[in-house]
Amino acid sequence: MQTETWKKKLIRYAHTGKGSELPWKSKPGPQKLVLGHKIFLRKTMNPSFEWLEKIKGDIRYDELLSRFTSIRIGGPADIMIYPKDIEDLQTIFKYKSTLPHLVLGEGSNLLVSDSGFRGLVVCLKNGFKTIHTPRFYKDSEGKDKALLKVEAGVKMSYLAKTAARYSLSGIQKLVGIPGSLGGALVMNAGAEGAEIGQFIKSVTRVTETGNIQTLTRDQLQFDYRKTQFPPGGGIIVSAELELEKGDSQSIFDDITSFLGKRSNKQPLSLPNSGSVFKNPPGDTAGRLIESLGLKGFTVGDASISIKHANFIVNKGSASAKDVIQIIDHVQKTVLEKHGIELETEIVRVDI
Ligand SMILES: Cc1cc2nc3c(=O)[nH]c(=O)nc-3n(C[C@H](O)[C@H](O)[C@H](O)COP(=O)(O)OP(=O)(O)OC[C@H]3O[C@@H](n4cnc5c(N)ncnc54)[C@H](O)[C@@H]3O)c2cc1C
Repeated sequence: MQTETWKKKLIRYAHTGKGSELPWKSKPGPQKLVLGHKIFLRKTMNPSFEWLEKIKGDIRYDELLSRFTSIRIGGPADIMIYPKDIEDLQTIFKYKSTLPHLVLGEGSNLLVSDSGFRGLVVCLKNGFKTIHTPRFYKDSEGKDKALLKVEAGVKMSYLAKTAARYSLSGIQKLVGIPGSLGGALVMNAGAEGAEIGQFIKSVTRVTETGNIQTLTRDQLQFDYRKTQFPPGGGIIVSAELELEKGDSQSIFDDITSFLGKRSNKQPLSLPNSGSVFKNPPGDTAGRLIESLGLKGFTVGDASISIKHANFIVNKGSASAKDVIQIIDHVQKTVLEKHGIELETEIVRVDI
């Protein structure tokens, strides 16, 4: 039996070809004699990670990111923090200095390198899950509306169903998107002719300087599968949604119908990361790929889905490298045959 520590060392070695040491640790230089003492000089200072003790949430080392991505691909992350609250996020930005960081929502739009992520992953899977009680009001035209404050780690399916319980309409169109509100906001995720951006009144984030900043709708630009935020970066912690009052039963009927349509059209029984390519203007990536007979095209354990040509599925132990080879092949073939450059929708991490 291997101990946990040894298992982690072996996993890291398998993915990175390196031992268990953290990659930013500098190696000691040659031995020198200073005032009669033998010392080793390091070329650079090691950053101190003592600040991690200030974090209230969980911290893990060498977690395999394949456990956190919907396509089940991705090597180890050096450090993963599950922040407990906003203060933890502020601590991260106060001390992490130049250490690269990645925010992980539900991992449903990510393709992470087989060698993983050299830096700090901030994982919101276990936190930021509150949906506050809606504030109902009448707008200037007398329509019944409500403001709903939701934290960034809430899953879109739970958000849509909770809104339906309050008879709040609109957001049910996004019920089948398997991500968190934070991820949906970054991607301006959409379905059934609606996008998350159209419901947003404000977004609150912790910026990279550790400030809590609330951005109003007019400070954001919602483009196709991408929201443009003002400079400041950081991590989205919550948003305020503006929804209309509707009929609860018909909202729940919509939810059943949207989920049914999805399971008919999408390969939901195999790991995948949703639509790989953005739709070009006036066409769909799926139609273009299918028209070239590429359904079923396979590299290693990754395949273009037979059910939906814009999905790549992991049939077992596919690697990020396999997926990238398929992406390159599709882009090249579509450009050659249709003269269209397909842009990827999935977010590549360290590839
Ligand atoms: C089966 C399937 C179906 C899908 N269908 C759709 C669909 O119909 N429409 C659609 O638009 N998408 C769809 N997707 C893609 C995906 O679900 C969405 O893009 C989703 O919004 C991503 O959310 P996430 O929480 O999983 O984000 P992640 O994949 O974890 O991250 C996506 C990006 O957002 C950043 N991020 C995440 N949370 C935060 C935060 N709190 N603060 C700052 N940055 C953050 C990440 O760093 C990354 O850059 C589908 C995916 C799958 C697997």
